Formats: sequence, structure tokens, C-alpha cells
Amino acid sequence: KTTLEIKDLHVNVAQENDSAAPIEILKGVDLTITSGETHAIMGPNGSGKSTLSYAIAGHPRYEVVSGSVTLGGEDVLSMSVDERARAGIFLAMQYPVEVPGVSMSNFLRTAATAVRGEAPKLRHWVKEVKQAMSDLDIDPAFAERSVNEGFSGGEKKRHEVLQLELLKPRIAILDETDSGLDVDALRIVSDGVNRYRESEQGGLMLITHYTRILRYIKPEFVHVFSNGRVAESGGPELADELEEHGYERFTRAGAGA
Ligand code: ADP
Ligand code: MG
Ligand code: MG
Repeated sequence: KTTLEIKDLHVNVAQENDSAAPIEILKGVDLTITSGETHAIMGPNGSGKSTLSYAIAGHPRYEVVSGSVTLGGEDVLSMSVDERARAGIFLAMQYPVEVPGVSMSNFLRTAATAVRGEAPKLRHWVKEVKQAMSDLDIDPAFAERSVNEGFSGGEKKRHEVLQLELLKPRIAILDETDSGLDVDALRIVSDGVNRYRESEQGGLMLITHYTRILRYIKPEFVHVFSNGRVAESGGPELADELEEHGYERFTRAGAGA
């Protein structure tokens, strides 16, 4: 078992105007995720959910002011972005980037090589990719297209989950994976995420503003973000409460955001 441990994490974000002072977004986040567990991170817009994922992934605009992030006891914050990926941290972006000129199949093999420490045997790899693509109802022609170039929203999400299934990260962070998916696509994507969960190889941080995806992916733990902190943690019943009452209890005057 591997544990991702976030302790009293404070993060500033640099503003577009470089001369402006950075703003403090995360104000002391504590969170522990162990492989095999699924944690839903919920919260109002602007509460800092994406900032947490960017900070863990090592995005340059996000400056960790204090606190710690460790994976299996190793200091994640001192690792480069590549080292974090190799250590087994996977971040599916809210807005996945396009990589022109790099085919999906090459991209995936390069990523798998980085994570596994050696290139997967080509014939075995091709079979593995074909199977995972067919499970996710992805057109085989996709393997030869450039990463995310001209992909529809739904196709990008499937591609994210394809990576999840093939790379089997130790910690997977999915940020708003449900946004822009119709019900059929949501089911296919959720089935893929659930196959990753069943493998019990990693822990899952499922960031979502809406409760809809939680009908398909059942978290054991639910955390509500408010104003750059975890305001409350609980089990699935917390998501049920949010489904019924929304975030009002967490956004009243004084709660910030
Ligand atoms: P969430 O994902 O919960 O909606 P975010 O982490 O995206 O919240 O944003 C938290 C706060 O940080 C928001 O007020 C947002 O405007 C601000 N913020 C995030 N990224 C930047 C940035 N690059 N520049 C300026 N402000 C930012
Ligand atoms: Mg603090
Ligand atoms: Mg966000």
C-alpha cells in the first residue's frame, strides 16, 4: 500500500500580471489518501480544488509556501514534474493539452516507459492498448491521431481514462472528469475508472463540483473544500447532503470564496 499525505499545505498562485503580488489560495490543506481508496473532493467554484491538483503535479504557477506532500514517505514537492509522474502521480487535466505531431500510441508508450522504468514489449503493448481502447469504446483509428488534437470533450475524457488504465498510477487525480459528458459517455468513462479502482493498484482523488458522477463512482470518503481548506470530511452521506442542499452551508459569510 502507498499513501499520499498532504499536511498543512499553503499554496500561492502567481497572477497574470507578474508585478502583482501572488494570492494565497490554499490555506492549510490536510488530506491522506491510501492506495485502494477513492476520495471525492467537492466544493464550490473557486474554493481551490484545481489549485490542489496543480500543486501536487508541480505546475510552475503554483508556489508551495509551506506544508508537505509525501508519497510513500518520499518528498513529492522536491521532485521535478517528470519525477512526480515517474513516482506514480497521475493528473488528468481539467483542460487536457494538445500535443501536435505526437500520436496517441507513441505518447502512451513513452508515458508507460517512464512509469514502468522500461519500454513495454511492443507486441504485448499493442495488444494491451487495443484491449483498453475497445473497453472504452474508442475508435482504433485514434491510436494514430495526435494527442488531443481535434478531440471532442468526450474523446479527451476517454483518453484520460485510457491512460489511467494503461499506466496504473499509484495516485490518480481526476479533475472534473464528468464535465461535458453525456450520460452514455459518463457511464463508459466511469466503468473505466472503476476498473482501475478494482485493480486496487492506486488511490483515486476525484475532484468534482457536481454529485452526478458519484452515482457511478462511489467514493468511500468525501471532503468538502471551502476557501482553500478542507471544511469537512465524511463518508458518502456527505455527498448525499450536498446533492440535496448544495454548498450553501459552506459558502455563507465568513466561509469565504
Ligand atoms: P476550483 O477548482 O475549486 O474551482 P481553483 O483552484 O481553480 O478553484 O481556484 C481557486 C481560486 O484561485 C479562484 O479564486 C481562482 O480565481 C484563483 N486562481 C486559480 N488559478 C489562478 C491563476 N492562475 N491566476 C489567478 N488566480 C487564480
Ligand atoms: Mg496553516
Ligand atoms: Mg477547478
